[in-house]
Amino acid sequence: MQQSARVLIDGPSELVFDYMIPTDMPIVTGCRVRIPLRNRDSTGTVLDIGPPPQTNFTLRPISSLIDPEPLITPTLMKLGKWIANYYVAPLEQVMRALLPESVRQDTHSEKTRKVVELTAMPATDDLEKIAKRAPKQHIILKLLEANAGAMPLKDLGGGSVSAAVKSLEKKGHVKLTEEAVRRDPDEDQEFLESKPLQLNSEQAEALKQILEPATNENGIPKPILLHGVTGSGKTEVYLQAVQHALDQGKSALVLIPEISLTPQTVQRFKSRFAALQDQVAVLHSHLSQGERFDEWHRIRNGQARIVIGARSAIFAPLTNLGIIIVDEEHENTYKQETSPRYHGRDIAVLRAHFEKAVVVLGSATPSLESFQNTQSGKYQLIRLTQRADSQAMPIMRVLDMRIEAQKQKGRIAILSDRLRVSMEKKLENGEQIILFLNRRGFARSLQCPPCGHVCECQHCAIPLTYHRTDDRLVCHMCGYQSLPPKKCPSCGDEAIRLQGFGTQKVEEVIQKVFPQARMARIDADTMRRKNALRDTLNKFKAHKIDIIIGTQMIAKGLHFPNVTLVGILNADLGLHVPDFRAGERTFQLLTQVAGRAGRGELEGEVIVQTFTPHSPSIQFARHHDFDGYAEQELQFRNQFGYPPFAHCALLGTRSTHERRAEFTLENLHKRLSKDLPPQIELGEPMPSPLTRAHGQFRYQLMLKSTSARALHQHVQRVLSTTPPPDDVTIIFDMDALGF
Ligand code: ADP
Ligand code: ZN
Repeated sequence: MQQSARVLIDGPSELVFDYMIPTDMPIVTGCRVRIPLRNRDSTGTVLDIGPPPQTNFTLRPISSLIDPEPLITPTLMKLGKWIANYYVAPLEQVMRALLPESVRQDTHSEKTRKVVELTAMPATDDLEKIAKRAPKQHIILKLLEANAGAMPLKDLGGGSVSAAVKSLEKKGHVKLTEEAVRRDPDEDQEFLESKPLQLNSEQAEALKQILEPATNENGIPKPILLHGVTGSGKTEVYLQAVQHALDQGKSALVLIPEISLTPQTVQRFKSRFAALQDQVAVLHSHLSQGERFDEWHRIRNGQARIVIGARSAIFAPLTNLGIIIVDEEHENTYKQETSPRYHGRDIAVLRAHFEKAVVVLGSATPSLESFQNTQSGKYQLIRLTQRADSQAMPIMRVLDMRIEAQKQKGRIAILSDRLRVSMEKKLENGEQIILFLNRRGFARSLQCPPCGHVCECQHCAIPLTYHRTDDRLVCHMCGYQSLPPKKCPSCGDEAIRLQGFGTQKVEEVIQKVFPQARMARIDADTMRRKNALRDTLNKFKAHKIDIIIGTQMIAKGLHFPNVTLVGILNADLGLHVPDFRAGERTFQLLTQVAGRAGRGELEGEVIVQTFTPHSPSIQFARHHDFDGYAEQELQFRNQFGYPPFAHCALLGTRSTHERRAEFTLENLHKRLSKDLPPQIELGEPMPSPLTRAHGQFRYQLMLKSTSARALHQHVQRVLSTTPPPDDVTIIFDMDALGF
């Protein structure tokens, strides 16, 4: 039977249509084709092939095949289909993520430049004549002679010499050619080659296990979790493992959370492989379309064998992949926030499996998902327990802000006396300070300042969210509602109320207390400009700034030898949000931040201000005890059926009409509860913690399931048979990270 193809049409609106495949046309998915669209010719990419859909129209045939080879490798296509299925995302959206637009639509081409080549130097007396009659031509010839017979036209004077070049060309002395130039995103930077370090014994053992990984029953390498304390020299292990893959003739893929936040990691890779510069490609969201086009093709044609990039680089078209490294594997930035909502780390593990490559997930604070996989034997655990620079872990002091609040009569204190005094001392010594503000979500919980009590849902053990509009406390997992208490249920104080302050407020207060200090604020608002972050960090490094105030944006991977004090202003801000991962995130933040202090000769100090000093995530972080933390946290997750023991997904509706958003979700809820597979727990529909954003009302419900397959299949079935009204958007977030 004749097959048809779904084609993603090139052009700004990227429509999808079906076409018949002519019988003799060797089309596979991922090929680019010419097709008729209305009454003109168009181009597109084949998404899928199958039996023709049942319609009343006759499908038009594909006109011709553009590339004989698909743009996408078979493995990537397989990965794409898996993603579409698992994350319940349309294949065309997956394809957009998989293939950069500039590549797919071929709107960009190689950049070229004109080069003047010397073909025949005139004889001496001819040359003298030229010198007299046409001095410009003489200079050109002399320059070419001095520069090995070829120079870019631009360097000879560009347009101002084109007439002279033309006459020389006519006389047969030179030839004008075109040469492809690479648009290099790091053109303005120079990388000095760095030599491999002598590994310490832990590092050497880790490298050995990566090079000879344990395998599963199918002979496929088991994923490796490299748990190495901050400063243990994980990067050096990555570098040597990548070198090894290259030596074997294989390629390597290195994922980092976000390029602009971890410029040092890119620099370290570029420096180590400086001699192979043309083999290193960098992929991230700040590339221009042209740069992306060039990097992609350099990877596709095998020129670049090392790729460093953020989340989407997991789709880099490398072949013969030897190793994938996911640095800071616990980072949330690996999860894509628009459809397809894939998790870069999970896709890395899957891609490595498909390609029989080694995958190394590295972190000082592994995610509980990855850690649990080592406990169950699915992954291999490797540890680096010592700092490579053999420095002691900094001392972490936990300050009880309830006492501070009592001193200040219930007003929320931003700066404790202890932190202020410590800051004074460091500034006097000419040392530097980083102050962190744990990012708060939009969700607000109720916490009592004098005693630290937080109102929680009894069923779900997460903080209840306060909804100002109807003065209600709501659980965002199960939908339980209650009235906010007038007095603290624990200590009876009436001071229980909303609290919170942003980075801006903190900056004001610090500025008032330390008018002489030079400070900079780093958060999403101040770092919008391209390179703003890099510039600020460079200034900090050059000690033109004394204090940096920031969100956890800056918690990762920074090396500042002169930073001797790190303050966490309010550890509770991130701790009491209605998310079962709040404790894990706080533990991660504190541990990562602690690793930032005292990276040089000077001893570091970390001060944590909190209203709940007894909280396990704070106490275990303080003792640098990952295992202790993981054990109690996994127990809690197991008891309440949270990941990694179940899959959590979020189903949401968004609309400018509140009722429509609500009604559509209620309808979906009704459909979902019919024939609900027993593994799935279905939550109640409710307004999202961020009830309204960008003019749209948001409603959501939670789904929990011990079987991922049961979950995505059930949702897929309901969504495909319940088309939403035109003015409602449906969001499905499988393995959602935020609620
Ligand atoms: P991590 O990535 O685990 O936080 P880094 O890779 O940043 O740690 O290493 C911390 C510091 O230790 C870096 O300055 C690095 O150059 C240095 N280092 C790593 N391995 C060694 C080694 N084997 N010998 C000496 N110094 C090392
Ligand atoms: Zn609940």
